[in-house]
Amino acid sequence: MTYLVKARLAENAPGKYYVIDHCNGCGLCLSIAGRFFDYVEDGKYYYIQRQPLNPDEEELMQEAMELCTMDAIKSDGDQTFFDTWN
Ligand code: SF4
Repeated sequence: MTYLVKARLAENAPGKYYVIDHCNGCGLCLSIAGRFFDYVEDGKYYYIQRQPLNPDEEELMQEAMELCTMDAIKSDGDQTFFDTWN
């Protein structure tokens, strides 16, 4: 049996990219690609406030994904669930 533990944050703008609940609020993504990210009022976590619109923006988002120390920025197609019991 597969248990889905996908933890996509509710605040993410709809679309390909999203932040999961592993985010620690470091703010690095905002400094790399600030146009795509925003944070909750207490700054505890960040989320995607808008999706990339062209290849240049996709590249910027990819950079933020690669540098996120918590691996908390995901895109559709990433495996964010675990097969815990089979
Ligand atoms: S870089 Fe990653 S851990 Fe840091 S605020 Fe952004 S999503 Fe969260």
